[in-house]
Amino acid sequence: MNTLLHPADRRRPALGLGLTVLVALAALAPVPAFAHGPDPLFGTRTWYQNQVVGYTWASGYVPPSWMIPAIDAGATDVGESRASRAATFARQSGAPSPVAYSATMPCPSYAIACVDRTGVPVSFAGLWFRPHGWTFDWGTLRWCQAQSTFTDGCYDVENVMLDELGHIEILGHHVNYSDGSDFTDAVVQASAHSRPKAGWNQHVFGDCDVARLELEYERQTASDPVSDCLNLATALSLSISPTSVYVGATVAFSSTLKITLDTTTNRAMAGDPLSRRSVLLQRRPLGSTTWTTVTTMYPSAATDGLYTVLWSPTATYDWRALFPTPANEGLVGSTSAITRVTVSGCSGSGCPSSLILGAGQ
Ligand SMILES: [Zn+2]
Repeated sequence: MNTLLHPADRRRPALGLGLTVLVALAALAPVPAFAHGPDPLFGTRTWYQNQVVGYTWASGYVPPSWMIPAIDAGATDVGESRASRAATFARQSGAPSPVAYSATMPCPSYAIACVDRTGVPVSFAGLWFRPHGWTFDWGTLRWCQAQSTFTDGCYDVENVMLDELGHIEILGHHVNYSDGSDFTDAVVQASAHSRPKAGWNQHVFGDCDVARLELEYERQTASDPVSDCLNLATALSLSISPTSVYVGATVAFSSTLKITLDTTTNRAMAGDPLSRRSVLLQRRPLGSTTWTTVTTMYPSAATDGLYTVLWSPTATYDWRALFPTPANEGLVGSTSAITRVTVSGCSGSGCPSSLILGAGQ
């Protein structure tokens, strides 16, 4: 079997089958998966950033009319919830990537849908939906959209399409906590939930799907939040000019905040700047260990990750910048190196003009 064929979305997580899936994923994924970590990798090749991937119906295997809007809605959900530069998907006639509704398909016998992402980044080899009414050993497959009123136990086409396109992006099945309490942190799940179980009709990628998409494709902009499913280290610099002044002179403080340049852990986001965060300027008296926040630095509108402020120190202090660990995104706070600014008094003709004006008027 092609190793990129994904046995996705079986209903019953039979133990033997589950282990088979996990072993297959482990063989494919160089990055270890932790419970509640980013989804594991499924394959190695990504699409290009923001690539628009066209799909079309496989010849002779066009889905029924009740199913088509939900399939297309699932593709739209990718673009609306990817929170990254991951590929988007759109149905286009003549596109090389086929989507099929078919009784004959290469999916494992227990799967309600599956994908083969061979061909990325030119195209994918296939995405298959098992037909409504198909008989498995566990029962009969019912797609919700085939019913005039959804009944419990049906599967939501739009949710399953979003899961399958997650695989097409590069997402493996999320590793849940053993009690499954974090199920809705990912749509890309080994066993889709049928109505009315948690997440059965979730139409946006979860935090841990987004985390992997951010790692592989980057965020759209430097001010976008980093998924809470991550815990990325940050690096904060501080440059000060000048570092020796007279009392009353103005000193320029400038900081740059980035995700650390660790490509093993931070992957495509390694070294990316972080804009519009809260970066504080702190000082402490010589010999002290206690830092005092002087001001919040101003985010630059022109340069990603840059924060600046002008300040007039009244005495000699040590200075640093601080990025506190934010409560609402997957970043770890950091501090800059420490720099001393020496301040001396002034008298006579060598004094800065601002001080002379200040004293004389
Ligand atoms: Zn899946």
